[in-house]
Amino acid sequence: MKTVIMAGGKGTRISSIASDIPKPMIRIGDKPVLELEIESLKRQGFDDFIITISHLGNVIRDYFKDGSDFGVHIEYFNEEIPLGNAGALFQIKDKLSDDFLLINGDVLFDVDVGRMYEYHKQKKAAVTIFTHPNTHPYDSGLIMTDEDMRVTRWLAKEDERPRYYKNRVNAGIHIISSSLLDQKIDKEKIDLDRDLLKPLCGKGLMYAYDSPEYVKDMGTPDRYEEVCRDYLSGKVERRNLKRKQKAVFLDRDGTINRYVGFLTDIDDFELTETAAEAIKKINDSDYLAIVITNQPVIARGEVTFEELDEIHNKMETLLGEKGVHVNGIYFCPHHPDSGFEGEVKELKFDCECRKPKPGMFYQAAEDFNIDLNQSYMIGDGDNDMKAGKAAGCHTIRIERDGDLLEAVGKVKGIRL
Ligand SMILES: [Zn+2]
Repeated sequence: MKTVIMAGGKGTRISSIASDIPKPMIRIGDKPVLELEIESLKRQGFDDFIITISHLGNVIRDYFKDGSDFGVHIEYFNEEIPLGNAGALFQIKDKLSDDFLLINGDVLFDVDVGRMYEYHKQKKAAVTIFTHPNTHPYDSGLIMTDEDMRVTRWLAKEDERPRYYKNRVNAGIHIISSSLLDQKIDKEKIDLDRDLLKPLCGKGLMYAYDSPEYVKDMGTPDRYEEVCRDYLSGKVERRNLKRKQKAVFLDRDGTINRYVGFLTDIDDFELTETAAEAIKKINDSDYLAIVITNQPVIARGEVTFEELDEIHNKMETLLGEKGVHVNGIYFCPHHPDSGFEGEVKELKFDCECRKPKPGMFYQAAEDFNIDLNQSYMIGDGDNDMKAGKAAGCHTIRIERDGDLLEAVGKVKGIRL
């Protein structure tokens, strides 16, 4: 699979760091970010690159030449007249057979691309975009999907958004079928997001690929500093899903949000006092933050799947306002005892996921390549402790609506 790297943009927002070099040549540690991208992809067997250049592109070309010094093959496409960031793709279309990887030249990442490509093929997608939560969803563009991960809406940051939404943004890594370039777009400049990708929303051709792996752009001096720190500490590499991950699993009701019995009304969902701060500590660590919750309210017919989704959107929105996110939410909609009015009969059985059984942990471990023995379960109930132990995790019990921050402080490697 060929990789196209878009390295033509101008880096105006961080011109305070470097104004005379193109953004992809800004150094992290002792190497330009573009070199780190190429190295990361080469390690995974991707060694055939086309780099689109414009602004100060000669600096990039002089550094990488034909790629042989870096063990890869590099061609360039020089945009002499500005074509928009996707315009070049139409010009180099003949060189792109089948699927290709398209990335921004100024993003630091370490992603298991083979895993993403498997997903792309399994979904038979025309486009797969790498998506993840970020620390500022409230002023970011948002990607919304149906339950099968088909992208249904793509909101720009200035678009009006629903009151509650999932923290899911586009990270700038795409796998695209070259057949998408067979269309004619009658414009002088073609913008990737606006003209090529957004029109695919709701057509069932474009999928989101949610991943906790490290992908960050260096759009501002602050973010640049952070990216440098994460790179030097090894965090960027450790988050690659080829490597075993660690997680802090969190119960929901009474642990993240105030306990109200069976929560059926979204207005009753409120974070506990320290929940956001506690989950922030997890986000800043090497652990993933994953919610594991029994929601028999669905089997009881008191909450629909859509309503539960909306409750979880509220949780993500409230956390997102504080720059905090969870990496996954697993819920059990089942309940073993049947014979009640209004119940959903097909969900009334003795499942393998309802805590104290460890089914949800096993599913998360498979989805995120988690080492359960190095992971923790924090919750306020007997079932949480039993399920966590059954899964092989360490367990930390807190009081109902207790201090989650204090509990997170007991996780090995997390300092408050
Ligand atoms: Zn279940």
